[in-house]
Order: sequence, then structure tokens, then C-alpha cells
Amino acid sequence: MTWYAPYPLALARGEGTRVQDVDGNWYEDMIANYGALAHGHNHPAIVAAVAAQVARGTAPGGPTPVQYEHAERLRSLNPSLERVRYCNSGTEATMWAVRAARAYTGRDLIVKIDGGYHGTHEWGQVSAFFSPSRTTPARLEGLSDPQLAPGVPPATAADVVVVPYNDAAVVATVLEQLGYQVAAVVVEPVLGVGGGIPSAPGYLAELRRLTSAADVLLILDECATLRLGPWQVKHGVTPDLTTHSKIIGGGLPLGVFGGREDIMSQFDPAGPRPTYHASAFGGNSLSLAAGSAALDHFGKDEIDHLDRLGERLRRGAEAAAAAVGVAARAVGEGGLSYVHFGSTPPRDVADTARLREGRRELRALLHLSLLHAGFLTAPHGLLCQHVLTEPEQVDAFVEAYGNALDTLHPY
Ligand code: PMP
Repeated sequence: MTWYAPYPLALARGEGTRVQDVDGNWYEDMIANYGALAHGHNHPAIVAAVAAQVARGTAPGGPTPVQYEHAERLRSLNPSLERVRYCNSGTEATMWAVRAARAYTGRDLIVKIDGGYHGTHEWGQVSAFFSPSRTTPARLEGLSDPQLAPGVPPATAADVVVVPYNDAAVVATVLEQLGYQVAAVVVEPVLGVGGGIPSAPGYLAELRRLTSAADVLLILDECATLRLGPWQVKHGVTPDLTTHSKIIGGGLPLGVFGGREDIMSQFDPAGPRPTYHASAFGGNSLSLAAGSAALDHFGKDEIDHLDRLGERLRRGAEAAAAAVGVAARAVGEGGLSYVHFGSTPPRDVADTARLREGRRELRALLHLSLLHAGFLTAPHGLLCQHVLTEPEQVDAFVEAYGNALDTLHPY
């Protein structure tokens, strides 16, 4: 949930692509719970699957057929998942993936992207996109200082090397100097919260090459990007470990981490070096049943449909802004879009921060104008449209976007 001024809407229900607030107003939901609801609200197949499962039990506390059925679907989408383990969220998935990497390599350092968002655990809140309370010195000269969210101890940052997005040369230097201490490089294929910035062509392939050469693990955080493809299959980069969440639960809480069998087998309680993994509700039957139904309705046709809608939305928003004299660049991939005000698209989070800072007031007013016109958007500019959305709905949004900017752009 995101807070925005003067107060966020209290939402009473969702239906298809729309949500209704407690005062009875309906809005087109352009956020879709940050992509978790890629099928829209209350998709009939997901509702039926949950209803059928709830009658059979919710979280029996042992391996279940629904786990295997869900894992099979995941594996057919993403073959790098030789083995998986379930948890409840993207936060847990990335926490466990890093735990797995540290246990496997016996090293503590992780390399994290500046502005990369991986959830709310301690290392995830080092140089995420937020107002920092303090910084700690960078580990290497030339890198920016790690920023800490309030409440995160500086000791956490001591194990995190923060590097800019889309700059493989910096990662090469870090691995050259510190590689023997680094467990993993953790990276999003599209820098989501940090500005919807797609990785530059060849960037992740180069990180794959560098990490393999330095004997360091590569973790792709695909919590938000499974609904684009998944990214790693589309672009041919195979990580050692992957995390997924959001769409895999069909609107219910679910996370998964997995990858190479030799790394994941550390968690085998009967194995030679068992690493502890537990969770009362991780992989619960309701989330898995909902998730399997969601994945059954998420094939190539839906992904292609989302790609086309996303492209239509991005080009439409840019053109609508240009028509009223506002320079805007819409970036993203598939059904994940982000509109920045400026003439050059951002390459990393420092660019995003500069672009945001310049148009703070316009953004806030635009958000309220769109609400008034019946569109719920993320206040910072991230848009995730649904699989179910039709091109006409995207066009209606673009028209409202242009009208709002026309009224507001003197700000
Ligand atoms: N990783 C990525 C790439 C994400 O986008 C998010 C959620 N925005 C998370 C991790 C954290 O997921 P959750 O909110 O389920 O903890």
C-alpha cells in the first residue's frame, strides 16, 4: 500500500480492472497492487480455485500436492528453477535467496544496485529508493555511500556493496577487488521502484559473465518481472538463483526462491549440510491454488497482450504530454510502465531522483487529477495495467492523462 496526500483512498472492493472506494466511487485500477493482480480483481478462475481449496484446508503444515502442481507450472515457465522453496512474499524470497548464497559460498558480502528494491528486510533497505536517515562510507573509492533506512543498523551496510544500475564496469572493478568476499550480485531485470528502468542491452549478460568468472553467484530478482515473460527466458540470461512473487500467488501472498539444485539442496534437512528454512504459512494451500489458477491463465497470448498494451500506454502518454508541451519519457517493459518528466530517459536511480525532484508538485497534482477523472495511479508514476484491460481502456487513460497535464503543466 502507498500513502499519498491528503490521504489514501480506503478501498472497499475490486472487480475486474476496477476498484471501489468506501464512498462508492469506482476507479480504473492502474496499479494492480504493483503487478500482483495481473489478472485483475476477482478473476473467476482464481475465485473458484480458492473456494475449492478452502474446503480442503488452508495450511496443513506438510508437503502437499498443490505445492508440486504449482512448482511444475513455475518450472515450465522458468526452467532455471531446478528446485524451489516457498515463502510468503517477495521480501522473504530475496532474504532467503541471499541466505542460500551466503551459506553456499561461505562469504558475507552482497553486491546490490543503488535504488534496487528487494523488500523490507535489513539489507533490502540499504540504498533502496527512500529518504535516507544516514549514510555509511562506501567500501571502495568511487562508489556512492550506502544509505540506510531509519532503523537499519550500519553493520548491515558493512556487508553490502552498492553499485549503480546499468554499469557493468563498476561491478567488474568490485569483483576484481573484493570478489573473494562476495557471495552474490543481486539485481532486478527492470529497476522497478527505482524508475521502471529496463536493463540496458547486454548488461545482465555481462553480469552473468563477470560473476561466473569470479565464482560469485548471480541472483535475479524476478518478483515483479515474471509477468513480463519471465525476463530471463526472454533474454537468455540464466542466473544461479531466482526469486518470484506477486503474480505467482494470483492475488494471495506467496513468494518463491529457487535455482541450481546444488545450491538449493543445502536446505534438504536430511542432507550433509542442512541450512534451516521454515515458515508457518510459506507455500500455504490457498495461495498455491490461487497461484496455479493464475498461471493457468497466463500464457504467451496474455504476455503478448500485455506487451502490446504497455507499448500503447507508453507511446500514448508520451504523445499526450508532447501535445500539451510537456517533455515526458515513458519507460518500462511489457505491462510495467513508468512516466518521467524530462527529455532523456533515466539510466539509473540517480537520474530518476533528479527527474522526480524537478516536477514534485506537478506529479502530486497529476495524481489527484487522475483520481478525479476516475483513474487510480501510483503517485510516483509507476503504472501496471491488467491482462484483462482492453486497448480502449488504455486509450481512455491516455486521454485523461493528456487532459490533466494540459490543465496542470504551468506547475
Ligand atoms: N522484489 C521486487 C523486485 C519487488 O518489486 C518487490 C515488491 N515491490 C519485492 C521484492 C518485495 O515484495 P513484497 O512486497 O511481496 O515483500
